[in-house]
Amino acid sequence: MHELHSYLQDTWVRGEGEPSRLLNPATEEVIATTVTRGLDMGAALAHARTVGGPALRAMTFAERGAILRQLAEAIVDIRKELLTLSTINNGATRSDSKFDVDGASFTLQAYAELGEELGDRRWIVDGDGEAIELARSKRFAGMHIKTPRQGAAVHINAFNFPAWGLAEKLAVAILGGMPVVTKPATSTALTAWRMTQAFVDSGALPPGALSFVAGSAGDLVDQLRFGDVLAFTGSSGLGCRFKGAGHLVAAGVPVNVEADSLNAAVIGPDVEEGSDTFEMAVRDIFRDMTQKTGQKCTAIRRVMVPEDLIDNVVEALLDQADRLKIGDPSADDNVRMGPVVNAAQREDVLEGLGKLAEATEKLRGNGRPGTLHGVDGDKGYFVDVHLFKAADPAASLAADIVHDREVFGPAATLLPYDGSVDQATALLARGAGGLVGSVYTDDRRFSRDMILSAAPYHGRLFLGSKKVAESAPGPGTVLPQMVHGGPGRAGAGEELGGIRGLDFYLQRTAVQGYKPLLEKILDGA
Ligand code: NAP
Repeated sequence: MHELHSYLQDTWVRGEGEPSRLLNPATEEVIATTVTRGLDMGAALAHARTVGGPALRAMTFAERGAILRQLAEAIVDIRKELLTLSTINNGATRSDSKFDVDGASFTLQAYAELGEELGDRRWIVDGDGEAIELARSKRFAGMHIKTPRQGAAVHINAFNFPAWGLAEKLAVAILGGMPVVTKPATSTALTAWRMTQAFVDSGALPPGALSFVAGSAGDLVDQLRFGDVLAFTGSSGLGCRFKGAGHLVAAGVPVNVEADSLNAAVIGPDVEEGSDTFEMAVRDIFRDMTQKTGQKCTAIRRVMVPEDLIDNVVEALLDQADRLKIGDPSADDNVRMGPVVNAAQREDVLEGLGKLAEATEKLRGNGRPGTLHGVDGDKGYFVDVHLFKAADPAASLAADIVHDREVFGPAATLLPYDGSVDQATALLARGAGGLVGSVYTDDRRFSRDMILSAAPYHGRLFLGSKKVAESAPGPGTVLPQMVHGGPGRAGAGEELGGIRGLDFYLQRTAVQGYKPLLEKILDGA
C-alpha cells in the first residue's frame, strides 16, 4: 500500500483528514491513499513563481533541454516499476502501460533535442532575425521576440494518461522557462507520483521548478493570477468552467483546454475488402476501440464506411472482437484489454452505451463481458467491446447521440455513407470540432478533397494508405512534433507541435527601434 505525498515548496508533504483511495480497477483492492486537504496552494505557487521561475529563466534553452534529457533518463531507469504501477492503478495491459510510460520519456527526449537545437539563447525571435522596416527611412524597424512568462504553469491532467499527460506538458513548460505545478487525476495518480519522485531524486531540476499535487486541487485554480498559465486536460464541462472563470478572464491568464472529442474515420470509396488499406483501417479502428480500453481522447468513435463495404467492415471488426482476451492484465499475460479505471467511469460508459443502443442498431456487446480472464467473480470495472451501426446517421435521435455523446470506453459506431466527400464532411462536422480525423484511401483526389474539407474541423488529420500501412502508428498516437488539440468541443486548445508548443509559455512582444541595434542585441544569446 502506497501513501502518496505532494511535493510543494521542494518538500514532500501530506494533507489532513480522510484520504482518497486509489484502487486496482481489475480487483477493486485499495492500492494507495492520498490526501491534500489543508495544503497551502497559494504558498506553493508563490514558491514556484519566485524561486523556480528565476532559476529557469536564467538558463539557456540548451540547459533546460539538458534537464529534460535527465528527466527522460529518470523514467527509463525505473521503467519496469512504472509499467507495473500503471497496470495496477489503471488496469492497463503491458502494451497500454508502455504507451503511457514510454510516451512520457519519448516526449521529454524530443523536447530535450529541441532545446539543444535552440542552443545558447534565452529568447526566441520570430522569423529569420531580420527586423522589418517600418518607415520610409530604413532605420526604424521592428521585430517580434518571445520571452518566458513570469508566473507559474499549472497543469491539470485527466485520469487516462498519468505518465504521458504529466510529461508532455512539463517538457514544453520547462523548455519555455516556466516552473510547473502539476496535478494528476486523483484516481490514477500512482504512476505520476512515482515518476515525480524519480524526477526529484534525479536532482536535475532547480529548486521551485516542479511542484506536484497528489490528489484534489483544493483552491489551486482560484490562486492563479497575472503571469500564470493554466493547461487543463479533462472533461469539456470543467474545461468550460476554467475558461470562463471570472478571475482568470480578468487577469488575462491563458487557459489551454484539451477536452472531449468524437473523432471520426472515413474509409474512401476506392478501398476494397482485403486490400492493405482496408486491413490498416480495420486494425486502427479496432486498436482505438480497445487500446487503454477505449479511454483515449484520440480514439476513433465514429466510422464512415461506403455503403457497399459496411458488411465487410462489420465482419472484420466482430472477428477481432471475438478473439480479444479481456480480463486482469496482472493475473494473465494474454489479456489484451483491461477494465475501465473506476466505478464512476464504468457507470458513465454503460449509460452512454445504453443511449447509443436506443439510437442505433447494436451489433455487439452487452455491458460486462461474458468471459473474463484472471478475474475473481464479479470484481472489476469491466466493459465488453461494443459495436453499433447507425443506418441513417442523419436521423435526429442517432445524430444527437452518435455525434454528441463521447462514450469514453471500448465502443465505436459505424455510419454508412454514399462515398462522397460532401456527405463524409457533413457527418464529420457534426462532431463540432475534433482532435483527430482519419481518412483511409489510395485515391489522391479523394485524399486532397477530404483534407481540405475536413481540416477546419480538426487539430490533426491522419491519412492512412497502402504506402504507410506498415509504418504508421495509427491516428490515436500523439507525436511531440505534431500539434495536439482541436477546435470546438475538443477545447479549442493546442499543445506540443514542436516549437509551436512553447508559444503558450512565452509572451510575444513587438520591439521597435533602430534597425541595426535591434538586429544586433536581439539576435543571439
Ligand atoms: P475530469 O473529471 O474533467 O477531471 C480532469 C482533471 O480535473 C482531474 O485531474 C480532476 O481532479 C481535476 N479537477 C476536478 N475538479 C477540479 C477543480 N475544481 N479544480 C482543479 N482541478 C479539478 O476528466 P477525467 O474524467 O479525468 O478525464 C476524462 C475526460 O478527459 C474525457 O472526456 C476525455 O475526452 C478527456 N481527455 C481529453 C484529452 C485531450 O488531450 N483532449 C486527453 C485525455 C482525456 P480529481 O481527479 O482530483 O477530481
